[in-house]
Amino acid sequence: MTKIGFIGLGRMGLGMASNMQKKGFSLVVHDVNGAAVDKLVNLGAEAGADAADVAARSEIIITMLPNSAIVHQVICGPGGVLSAAKAGSLVMDMSTVSPETTDAVAAACNAQVVGFVDAPVGRLASHADAGQSLFMVGASKADFERVKPAMEAMGTTIYHCGETGAGTRTKIVNNFLAISLCQLNAEAMTLMQGFGLDLENTLDVLHGTTATNGQLKVNWATKGLIGDIEPGFTIDLAHKDLTLVMEAANAARVPMPMAAAAREMFSQARAQGKGGIDFSGMLNVGCENARLEVPRLPHNSRHRI
Ligand code: NAD
Repeated sequence: MTKIGFIGLGRMGLGMASNMQKKGFSLVVHDVNGAAVDKLVNLGAEAGADAADVAARSEIIITMLPNSAIVHQVICGPGGVLSAAKAGSLVMDMSTVSPETTDAVAAACNAQVVGFVDAPVGRLASHADAGQSLFMVGASKADFERVKPAMEAMGTTIYHCGETGAGTRTKIVNNFLAISLCQLNAEAMTLMQGFGLDLENTLDVLHGTTATNGQLKVNWATKGLIGDIEPGFTIDLAHKDLTLVMEAANAARVPMPMAAAAREMFSQARAQGKGGIDFSGMLNVGCENARLEVPRLPHNSRHRI
């Protein structure tokens, strides 16, 4: 059976790796957080000593790490994946990183006859837990077929977006919209409070017009609007992604005024010490700025999911 290495068992990676392990894949895992590794070992996975050890023991090595610098270090750095990966093995990075990082890591892999696939993940952490993620994949046709069974164990929806690098670039377009919507929702909900309107009636209207959006309908109804600020997806990671959006767009000479405005509101949230809360907590930032009470759905609300 193909041995799968999995590095990065955080809010997303823990659920993704657990789903693969439960569906019969053979995993060797690593995270700097030993408690996360123990959870996978309890499900039957093997523990790798470090990234190199995972690579030496795997045919496909998956990374699900916080940011570009860590992904580059774990794959290309000293003692990293490429210091021990077997020729003919394949690295699949599923983190959200810059296009430059994806292109550089892919080139380093290919120089060692190691395949590379970028497959960032769409939807929420709760979808990753439930094995219902969406994947946007940049890969050759042959590499795409090779990683497809692993993705089928972790999600329900897989898009082959193009050659290597197309997955990361698609994710940047997606996250521009998803995260900016979060900021727009914060402003809309704060304005509603400022007008003294009813939350449930306002949501009925918004969900019934072209103003409707998945952030408000799914993420906010299960997180920010019920007062749950446990991440989820942190404001720190959302700020990281909007920064990726702006840098990548600048490199492509594409102006992104809405991304810039949204990014700076996430900067403000971080300055207020809110970087670690769920990104639907931008609602709290908007209401605090306007000195308004944060709106909450009642327990029996028709808008709760
Ligand atoms: P997280 O911070 O919860 O998890 C990252 C994990 O990587 C942690 O367990 C951490 O201990 C581990 N790690 C850090 N440095 C390491 C190293 N050098 N070696 C081994 N392990 C290391 O983050 P997350 O929410 O799981 O997100 C992971 C990636 O997925 C990010 O790029 C994020 O932008 C993206 N993403 C997140 C979501 C979401 O809803 N949370 C959704 C889609 C994509």
